[in-house]
Amino acid sequence: MRNKLNLFMLALILCCVGCSPSPEAQRQSPHIALVGLGIESSTFSPAQTHEDAFHTWEGDEIFSYYPFFSDSALLQRAQWSPTKISRAIPGGIVPPKTYESLVGKTLDLLKQNQPYDGVFLDIHGAMSVVGLDDPEGDFIERIREVVGYETLISTSMDLHGNVSWRLAENSDLITCYRLAPHEDAWESRQRALENLVDRLESEKGKPAYKAWIPVPILLPGEKTSTRIEPAKRLYAAVAPATEQEGVIDAAIWVGYAWADEPRNHAVVMAYGDDQQAVGETAEQLAEHFWNVRNEFSFVAPTGTLDECLDQAIESKKKPFFISDSGDNPTAGGAGDVTWTLTEVLKRPEFKSTSGPSLIYASIPGPELIEKAVEAGIGSKVEAHVGGIVDDRYAPPLLISGTVRAIVQGDKNAETEVVVRVGSVDVIVTKKRKPYHTEADFTRLGLNPRETDIVMVKIGYLVPELYNMQADWLLALTPGGVDQDLERLDYQRINRPMFPLDKDMEDPDLSARFVPVSGQDE
Ligand SMILES: [Zn+2]
Repeated sequence: MRNKLNLFMLALILCCVGCSPSPEAQRQSPHIALVGLGIESSTFSPAQTHEDAFHTWEGDEIFSYYPFFSDSALLQRAQWSPTKISRAIPGGIVPPKTYESLVGKTLDLLKQNQPYDGVFLDIHGAMSVVGLDDPEGDFIERIREVVGYETLISTSMDLHGNVSWRLAENSDLITCYRLAPHEDAWESRQRALENLVDRLESEKGKPAYKAWIPVPILLPGEKTSTRIEPAKRLYAAVAPATEQEGVIDAAIWVGYAWADEPRNHAVVMAYGDDQQAVGETAEQLAEHFWNVRNEFSFVAPTGTLDECLDQAIESKKKPFFISDSGDNPTAGGAGDVTWTLTEVLKRPEFKSTSGPSLIYASIPGPELIEKAVEAGIGSKVEAHVGGIVDDRYAPPLLISGTVRAIVQGDKNAETEVVVRVGSVDVIVTKKRKPYHTEADFTRLGLNPRETDIVMVKIGYLVPELYNMQADWLLALTPGGVDQDLERLDYQRINRPMFPLDKDMEDPDLSARFVPVSGQDE
């Protein structure tokens, strides 16, 4: 009897240790939900982004999505409730049905494990939804409806996102990348998460002061790379500013130039517990931004397409990269504008197989893919490519050439075909895909390093392509993310706006203090 009782007691103790932490332990370890929704979507493109374009991670999959969770120290600092992360490569505007579906599924999962001490909200910040302004502001309000205002929300963003007053108010902590290209994307998210855990562990809770300053500047990302001045120095000033006593974090958003809402402009924020330090930090960064506004220029020399091609054909340097920037799918272009490829194939230099070698990456063309797969490698194929989504500048293009490669299984493209037309290797995809790595080319049997000219639908070159180029020009081609912002027909952004309104007066760059969430007077 005595032994039985002891075993029973032991089982009871083990169960208590294993299944539910003591109330003491529960207090020490905050309960945090992980939530994410991200896309950058252009309203100047006829493309739409539907739910099937979003990659999603649910439940425990989310721990492997974030590389920093391999650090068990961070894992052990909280009880985590991963919900749903949805991300799409940039594209066109999101229909309300897709938005409601993604938000609804995420909120349903969020409702399951309440209450929360914290929510980590991972967004891009430049989502556009048909008929809905400021989707991220809407999303965070709906998260608040679920979790209430006792919960701290830490929002992590892309520096090309937009920060409305509503988003700033509902976020207790908020930050964004400090590098473009975004080599610090994971590090920034980790900072947002660690700041949240710190505030919960220390029981300091919501920061007392959040300063928000709208800066009336709207610039394309291709003019604001932090690899070159003036963005390099501007963004380098952020980290030291956050070392001050009473300042938790600060951030500068360039904002998103290819959507037309009042929230599309640059923003500076700082927050912490010392009102003066917070206000001054935000004001200094905002003034710095405004003072260097005239120094922003394109990351590479630019030209019309013909100017770029003339120079590349003339050049002895190879590979000579040309960015087909107006239809860059990673900024929100449809990715199927045929204008550039049409112009390239018209050039006499590329008509013969002995012309300068050129790789064109890439154009979606499901009709050609189907014919090429049927005909096989080495066969002649003729079919239309592109112009299904965005035919405003040129119609679908009939190309006729030899199939050089057929590769199946890419997660974005699904099927990729290389068709040789004259001296041009055209990469045709079933679905649109950005070409950002050397392997993207070599997988298809192409050698970009030994090619005279490589044209990519991209803006600034991502690091791997940048390191490969012998020379580089950015062609100002038409499309949904036209780099020449003055060609865009803005109706709803705030005016005056630099550089659209050249002679505007200096704006008011004093700090506006956003109410602590839930304390709106
Ligand atoms: Zn970005």
